[in-house]
Amino acid sequence: MKRAFRVAVLPLCLLLLAACSSAPQDVHESRFIMGTLVQFTISGVQQDKALEAIHAASDEMQRIEDVFTIYGTHANAVKAFNDSEPGTVMALPAEVDRLLRTSLDVSQQSGGAFDPAIGSLSLLWGFSLPEPPKAPPSAADIAAARSGVDSRLLERTNAGWKRLSRQTKLDFGGIAKGYAIDRGIAVLRAHGIANAILDAGGDLRAIGDHAGRPWRIGLRHPRKQGGTLGWFETKGDVSIVTSGDYERFFVYRGERYQHILDPHTGLPAGRSMSTTVVAHNATLADAWSTALFVLGSRGLPLLEARGMQGLQVDADGRMHATKLTILPFHPTAQ
Ligand code: ADP
Ligand code: MG
Repeated sequence: MKRAFRVAVLPLCLLLLAACSSAPQDVHESRFIMGTLVQFTISGVQQDKALEAIHAASDEMQRIEDVFTIYGTHANAVKAFNDSEPGTVMALPAEVDRLLRTSLDVSQQSGGAFDPAIGSLSLLWGFSLPEPPKAPPSAADIAAARSGVDSRLLERTNAGWKRLSRQTKLDFGGIAKGYAIDRGIAVLRAHGIANAILDAGGDLRAIGDHAGRPWRIGLRHPRKQGGTLGWFETKGDVSIVTSGDYERFFVYRGERYQHILDPHTGLPAGRSMSTTVVAHNATLADAWSTALFVLGSRGLPLLEARGMQGLQVDADGRMHATKLTILPFHPTAQ
C-alpha cells in the first residue's frame, strides 16, 4: 500500500519540479495605442501573470491617450481648454496640470524649442490627422497659427489656466507618449513585474534584465530601412526615446516636410534626421528628444547639464553625442 502510493507520487513530483525549474518564456504582446504599436516584452514570470499586467498597463496607456489627445471626437479637458474663450480661467484635471507644468519647464529650459502651446501649428500642418497632409499650408496661415505659439500666452492662476490668444492651443504630442510609458511601467511593477521592456514605436523604458543578462536595444537608422545606427545594453531602469523624421512626413516639390515643428519659424525643424535621449524617465526623455530634434547638436550641452544622454543625427547624416554616458552606445559598422 505504502509502496504503491510512493510510485504514484514520484512522477507527479518530478513533473512539478520540471515545471518549477524551467525558466518561463518571454511574453510578447502588442497593442495599438497613441497611433503606434506598443510592444510589451516581459521576462521571468508565468504567462498568465504577464498577460494580466499587460492588460492593466495598456488600459492605463489608453486612458492617458484619451485624457491628452487633441484629435478625434472624444471630449476631454485639453480640447475644451483649446476651445475656451481667451482670458477665461479653466480648471484642468490634476494630471493635465502636472504634465503641463513639466512641459513648460522643458519649454523654458530649451529656449522654446519644445513648446506645449504648439497646438494651432500642429493642427494646421495636420501630420497627426487621419488624412495626412500632401502639401504645406500657406505662409499666411503659418504666421497666424504661430502668433499663439508662445508658452507665455498660457497663464496659471489659483483656479486653473487661461490662454491669452485664440491661437494658443495645447498639444501634448511631444511628451504624452513618454508619460504613458512611465505610467505603463508603474502599472507593470504594481503587478509584480520586475523585468520588462515597454516599447511604444521606438520610445521605450526597460526595467530589470533578461534572465540575468542585459536587455539589448537597437536604434533604428533614419534612412536605411531595417538598418540600425547601433545598440545599447541595459540592466536596471532606463528610458530611451527617439524622435525621427522618417515616420510622419511628406515630400512636396522635392522637399521633405516632417512632423516636428520649430516653434520659432512655424516650419518643420530642419537640423536633424533623428534624435535619441537616454534618461531616467520616459516623460522627460520624450520632451527632450523633441527639443533636441529642433535644437540640433547645440541642444546636447543642455541635456548634459541635466544629467541626460543625447545622440543626434544631423541633416547630413552625421552623428553627434553628449560626452555624458548613461549607457554605452555601440555603433553598427555603417
Ligand atoms: P513621435 O510622436 O514621432 O514620437 P515626438 O515625440 O518628437 O515624435 O513628438 C512629435 C509630436 O509633438 C508632433 O506630432 C506634435 O504633436 C508635437 N510637436 C511637434 N513639434 C513640437 C515642438 N517643437 N514642441 C512640442 N511639441 C511638438
Ligand atoms: Mg517627444
